[in-house]
Amino acid sequence: MICDSYIIEEEKLIGEVLSLPKPRPTILIQAPEGLKKLYKCLGDFLRGIRELELYFSLSPSYGACDIPVDEAFHIRPDLIIHLGHLEYKLSEVKIPWRILYLPVYYNIEVPQKTLLEVARTLQAKNWRTIAVVNPVTEALIAGRIRVYLLEAGFRVLEPVPGEFILGCDYSPMLKMIDRVDGFLIVAGGVFHPLGAAFYTDKIVAYDPYRDVVWNPVEEASRVVRKRMFTLAQLRNQPLRRAVVVAGGRPGQYRASIIELTRRALGELGVEYYVVSASYLTVDRLISIDDAFKPDFIVVTSCPRLPIDDFIDFYKPVLTPGEVIMLARGVEKYVYPW
Ligand code: SF4
Repeated sequence: MICDSYIIEEEKLIGEVLSLPKPRPTILIQAPEGLKKLYKCLGDFLRGIRELELYFSLSPSYGACDIPVDEAFHIRPDLIIHLGHLEYKLSEVKIPWRILYLPVYYNIEVPQKTLLEVARTLQAKNWRTIAVVNPVTEALIAGRIRVYLLEAGFRVLEPVPGEFILGCDYSPMLKMIDRVDGFLIVAGGVFHPLGAAFYTDKIVAYDPYRDVVWNPVEEASRVVRKRMFTLAQLRNQPLRRAVVVAGGRPGQYRASIIELTRRALGELGVEYYVVSASYLTVDRLISIDDAFKPDFIVVTSCPRLPIDDFIDFYKPVLTPGEVIMLARGVEKYVYPW
């Protein structure tokens, strides 16, 4: 099925919807902001399969870590369709609803001049063996670039089939890091390439939405320098109290990471309070500061929040990896935990 510039796999969708046992089953559909525009197209397609009661979630959705269980609690759907991502592998919480994770694939042809530019950029770096990695949405485009680069004479390593990078999980890339000269990250915007560049400076990025080949390394080292400066300041002051934020979204509630953080804070000799929040904002950070007056705040939900959203907050907001660095005197940047 084609919706807008995206391809959606119909076979799994049809099979799942037809297998729902009730006569007029209820489905709750959820998509991240950028894909909510596909709601009507998907809804019309679903209505063509069988009679359904459809709900479209308007709440924010930042990934498959963020299934709308609170809405499902009231709607009691027979199925939740999460559009745009595969199941979140790092989830520590079992969700008591049937969920279909339905990826969508951005489908554009990469202009010939851009393919040439990609090849020239990699050649200029003298990279012969490369890996092209991407989030699931850009899988089709990444596949086309792999074919082009192979034909252009590069050795191209492929990630394990079905594995894609996330802003908090670069394991598909890290599995190949010792075998490649460099990586091409195919992803929209800054988010995924920036995280990749926390691990290596052998990165080039291609943004198919803007048709731009760019280098995220400079921005990543600026961010890491800023994080290191914050940690150095914390090391040079007496630390008494911290607040640990536990995530309220199902995939973002990480009991093991909260425990890891507690241990690190214990090693630092810092007292701490644990708060929970579904969506963290500057206002909520200010509430935390008003209530507990901490020396720093640790976010155990989404590790990108301290880096992307709260880097300039007036109190240090740390990732679990940064607290471990602080507690154990680690000098090399640790991301995410
Ligand atoms: S980076 Fe954040 S929003 Fe994205 S999958 Fe990880 S926890 Fe969820």
